[in-house]
Amino acid sequence: MKTYHSKARIQGSAEGVAYVLGSGHCAARDGLGFDEAMERAGEELRQLADKDCGDGVFAAHLEILEDPMLRESVETHIAEGMADAEACTAACEEICRMFADIDDEYLRARADDVRDVFGRLLRLIEGREDRSFEDMPDAAVIVADNINPSDTALMDLDRVAAFVTSKGSSTSHVCIIAAGRGIAAAVGVDACTDIRNGARVLIDSESSSIIEDPDSETLEQFRRRALKRKSIRECFDGIKLMCNAGSVEDVERAIRAGAAGIGLFRSEFIYMAGTRLPDEEEQYSVYAAAAELCGARPLTIRTLDIGADKGLPYMTLPAEENPNLGIRGIRFCLKNPELFKTQLRAILRASARGKVKIMLPMVCLREEIVRTRTLLEECMRELDERALPYNKDIELGIMIETPAAVLEASELAELCSFFSIGTNDLSQYIMAADRGNSACSALCDYRHPAVLKAISMTVEAAHQHGIECGMCGEMASDSSQASLLKSLGLDYLSVNRLD
Ligand code: PEP
Ligand code: MG
Repeated sequence: MKTYHSKARIQGSAEGVAYVLGSGHCAARDGLGFDEAMERAGEELRQLADKDCGDGVFAAHLEILEDPMLRESVETHIAEGMADAEACTAACEEICRMFADIDDEYLRARADDVRDVFGRLLRLIEGREDRSFEDMPDAAVIVADNINPSDTALMDLDRVAAFVTSKGSSTSHVCIIAAGRGIAAAVGVDACTDIRNGARVLIDSESSSIIEDPDSETLEQFRRRALKRKSIRECFDGIKLMCNAGSVEDVERAIRAGAAGIGLFRSEFIYMAGTRLPDEEEQYSVYAAAAELCGARPLTIRTLDIGADKGLPYMTLPAEENPNLGIRGIRFCLKNPELFKTQLRAILRASARGKVKIMLPMVCLREEIVRTRTLLEECMRELDERALPYNKDIELGIMIETPAAVLEASELAELCSFFSIGTNDLSQYIMAADRGNSACSALCDYRHPAVLKAISMTVEAAHQHGIECGMCGEMASDSSQASLLKSLGLDYLSVNRLD
């Protein structure tokens, strides 16, 4: 038994058989000139991007390949007298050096993409075939110094249990691809290629270790823990699983557990934690940290949802006879546009750091989305004046948690990019039963046929309009309802916890 440790956090746990990658995985063929190699690489990447087998990675690689800077840089070296392969290596190092100076871990990791594109060109110029993974065992633990998206595209990922590499960081593509597919990943593992090909290997995120040839006691303990851990994943097998979060720590934990993204970030927790309203900078630092942890996975930030049972300790909200039917969620934000705009600007700024989406709570009317868009556009103009970056195509979606939103789902779908069903409030409002009143708890039940009908109607309307529909209320975390949830046609579930 031998133990290895990862410098980064291990993503997920797994047991499998080591498949150590070396140069023996390449075969030879005739080499190509630079121009032909560019053309062939373009064809290969277009095919891979069409198959969409790399979570959008290959479309990004195609952009890198087609960037005039790449061709110019190689051709300058060729004109200076370098051979094609040598010119590619020199150009690759030059471009990667530019990334190395960037003070942003996510962008720095993009140098790996540049290396992967040049690796493809070099393989074609030198006449090497792609790696072949024909002799890969089932439940393979792929061990290598580095694993490129081009390698993962050639593997049958259903047969991969884990990736273990000596290079890379938690924002490397291998981690992103692994997380999206529920594959464990351990990067920054010193001397991992010493692992014997064919050895039994455990990847243990709890002890942050990789164990080669475990003894029977270690193996038994690991399997016992795995049985407990698997239940939510196994129950929901086949559905994309995201997580709900209320803090950066929650996001970190979710990503470590292999979540495909954050389906609901309850931003009100940031407001509730302080002694005054958080300003734009304070909010931005939280959202940006969460966005960076998510990398290429979505971070769905729900805008401030206060009112009813959720108050702010430092702010007295107007007394209401029926607060559950009063000024809460989007109604409160639209009544306080400056407060709302502070949050929208912070979210927009974080959208330059990851795949951030905006989600509005308690929507009933088309007008609520239209007015939010107007405020969002004002915020974009204000950020332009301050020369701050943001994603101008940021997705705006809504929670479906009121009967009006269900009945108007088709009309609302025309105005937004996604739906997420909040079964906690949807059950309360459909059943007219206060979710906080224990005397009504039998009534406020998402398993009631009326609630289930509302969910089906929502999913159908979303799909008719070509937008995604997920679920983020408590029902999504109820593994006893797994077969019902699978039959509802939801695009993803956002669960409370995956670990
Ligand atoms: C819901 O209503 O289902 C939901 C997810 O939102 P919250 O519980 O925060 O109101
Ligand atoms: Mg709700």
